[in-house]
Amino acid sequence: MKCSTVRWGLLPELPEVESVCRHLRERVPAGSLIVRAAIVRPGIVRPADPAAVEQELTGQRITRIGRRGKHILLHLSSGRILGVHLRMTGNLYFSPDIRFREASARAWLELPGRTGIVFADPRALGRLELLDQEPASLGPEPLEASFTPAVLAQASRASRAPIKVFLLDQRRVAGVGNIYAAEALFRARINPRKPANRLNSNNIQRLHAAIVGVLEDAVQSAYNAYSSPGRFTEGEEFAVQVYGREGQPCAACGKPVRRIRQGGRSTYFCGHCQR
Ligand SMILES: [Zn+2]
Repeated sequence: MKCSTVRWGLLPELPEVESVCRHLRERVPAGSLIVRAAIVRPGIVRPADPAAVEQELTGQRITRIGRRGKHILLHLSSGRILGVHLRMTGNLYFSPDIRFREASARAWLELPGRTGIVFADPRALGRLELLDQEPASLGPEPLEASFTPAVLAQASRASRAPIKVFLLDQRRVAGVGNIYAAEALFRARINPRKPANRLNSNNIQRLHAAIVGVLEDAVQSAYNAYSSPGRFTEGEEFAVQVYGREGQPCAACGKPVRRIRQGGRSTYFCGHCQR
């Protein structure tokens, strides 16, 4: 039996954040005018002054909705960027009528016709930040065409870290979290303890395909689980093969899935299938 652990509000990873972006892009056309911005929970923009943030956003147009790692990036006509980090319980979604926003709305951008973008966050741990440029410290985006096997090979050659730890390093590859790193290594049949610089070209080819494949499947799953006006349901989930399945039979060989600690995090893998 496969168990599913990817649930909204628990651990948003790249696929959940990307699906939030895709839903927003479908509903907020490029060039949309921000009629008014409201920051109702000052803590989400600190140390910036909420009134200054509101003032800067008001009258701007949203030229593009991008993403770097787990950061949602609303590009503004001024050239600046509103970075949104959802953290644990945040959500960013289009509202057909901004007047009926929920109680946990911490900020919103009113668009023409009383529509808008709502940032809701029950625990108010998320962050809104005005940036001059995209976060520079992140590695290549695994879902962009620029992420090739050659790019992965070059990065891995420079690291002696176990490949699982390597994959979690956001400077190496952006946005791969604990769940999808374990799933990608299982799909590629690579032992998570293998040093990154010991992967041969065959390993790299398989790992590259597995990272892209696992993330694309997970984005689709998160996208399907997202019902209007912007909530993830638990009806549709990404079916994991190893993550969280310690002691349960491996889907491929039937031997028990193992759990080890790496870099302070749990790693799940099959010692038989992953060499
Ligand atoms: Zn196995």
